[in-house]
Amino acid sequence: MNINTANFATSAPDLKSCPTAVLPEFAFIGRSNVGKSTLINLLTGRKGLAKVSGTPGKTQLINFFDINRQWQLVDLPGYGFAKVSKQQRAEFNVAVADYLEARETLVHTYVLIDSRLPPQKIDQRFVTWMAEAGVPFSLVFTKADKQSSGKTQSNVAKFRREVLAGVTTPPEIFVTSSVSKEGRQHVLGHIEKLIKAK
Ligand code: GDP
Repeated sequence: MNINTANFATSAPDLKSCPTAVLPEFAFIGRSNVGKSTLINLLTGRKGLAKVSGTPGKTQLINFFDINRQWQLVDLPGYGFAKVSKQQRAEFNVAVADYLEARETLVHTYVLIDSRLPPQKIDQRFVTWMAEAGVPFSLVFTKADKQSSGKTQSNVAKFRREVLAGVTTPPEIFVTSSVSKEGRQHVLGHIEKLIKAK
């Protein structure tokens, strides 16, 4: 898929404030600092589209980006942050759960996982929740350039064994790097395939 236009559209604090659901939506979510903003900038080819390394937890809004006037990229608030108020520290907020469970135009969600780390409890809980809620998702292992591909593959394998063993329909897995651009076309191709299948 070529990205011809990528523009910020709007932000919403909760599901009822989201823009009228028209275009197919593809959402991105992960722990703070997992590389979500960087991945969004990589996919869209727009360096400043999503902000990189803001204060964790600061952006508690659902952000919509219009891509090619064809689909919406949805940047969901990260989960598992510590620097915000107690109330916001809920592992992932109600707005996110509402959006994932009830947004009519949501086609697919990409859950980002840091490829440098063995499976983290918070990711495990989120992925298990997604599977149980029946929300279609894939996994994107970020920052693959930070270690050898052997180490990345070993962390992916651990995740499969420890987290995905009990998931009925195992998600697709992508590996990405903002440095080498690895995975960019795979993720964009996946989105394109899902748009065409609609
Ligand atoms: P977010 O909080 O999930 O939006 O994470 P950011 O996109 O702000 O990334 C957190 C940090 O990881 C930043 O310093 C990024 O430059 C770095 N980072 C993110 N993705 C990659 C990657 O693929 N490779 C490398 N080397 N660094 C990355």
